[in-house]
Amino acid sequence: MKTNLLGQTLIHLQALCAEEGFPRFTAKQLCDWLYKKRVDSIDAMTNLSLAQRARLNEIAYIGRETPVRCQVSKDGTKKYLFPVPDSHFIETVFIPEAERATLCVSCQVGCKMGCLFCVTGRQGFHGNLSAGDILNQLFSIPEFESLTNVVFMGMGEPMDNIDAVLSATQVLTSDWGLGWSPKRITVSTVGIVPGLKRFLDESQCHLAVSLHNPVAAERLQVMPVQKAYPLDEVLALLREYDWSGQRRLSFEYTMFRGINDDLAHAAKLVEALKGLDCRVNLIRFHESPEAPFRTPVPSAIQAFQNHLNRNGIVCTLRASRGQDIEAACGLLAGKE
Ligand code: SF4
Repeated sequence: MKTNLLGQTLIHLQALCAEEGFPRFTAKQLCDWLYKKRVDSIDAMTNLSLAQRARLNEIAYIGRETPVRCQVSKDGTKKYLFPVPDSHFIETVFIPEAERATLCVSCQVGCKMGCLFCVTGRQGFHGNLSAGDILNQLFSIPEFESLTNVVFMGMGEPMDNIDAVLSATQVLTSDWGLGWSPKRITVSTVGIVPGLKRFLDESQCHLAVSLHNPVAAERLQVMPVQKAYPLDEVLALLREYDWSGQRRLSFEYTMFRGINDDLAHAAKLVEALKGLDCRVNLIRFHESPEAPFRTPVPSAIQAFQNHLNRNGIVCTLRASRGQDIEAACGLLAGKE
């Protein structure tokens, strides 16, 4: 099977060069072509010898795929559909704002986590994306040059595909790669503890934890992951790290009417997050025909937000983008 060069780290490429008997510096040249010049063919790597290029064409390829569809929301949000191996599709959302342009990438085809409120979760799991498949979502859209931020909040659970996610973030942040500051990248998780621990130890990117309910028994009803990795365990792990510096910790809290949107829940959330340097992003649940939940009333959201702010937790209501094209949180399905 041929190797996808896109997504390979410098160390991976050095190993490949050693195996092929290429000089060690060829790995650095490959990085330049892949990540600085972002070529999409091995033949374009003109400072490699013809023999090297011929050999690379035999054993490797550059996994660049252009999106097969782009839907544009009335608010300017764009949803791209990309083909990935095994005849599947994934979705990527481009969110332009006044001061920034964020890309929300997928890391798996579907998802195993089965969160009750999520369209992706209801699709089941069809496989992991490679680091190359993840990076292709950035490299193969026309807005690449304008991107200021990347969030791993599309289809899939990043900590359940941690090797690929760490390789992709390494490419994005290393000087041999794109050289981005890790502050431009946020990775989300429902709290898969082993993957999360590796992420905390091996990356400096921001973290967003999907919390959604501070009451364990209630959280379990909508997020099956709570059984294997209870929120208490996740919070205990997070408390072992220092969040007072550049690296940011945030909690995502999707609000469902009559379920987790009252002040009792707000108080329990404050209690659960005590002592953690963090912020909370409230997300208004987007009603969909299949999900048994409703959107909270605006006054409940406001009261909840005020309660957190009064108790010293920076809390914002995330603006909903791209709802008309099903690009909003929890609505990605990857359907052709
Ligand atoms: Fe998976 Fe995230 Fe959807 Fe949960 S919310 S099922 S982790 S994609």
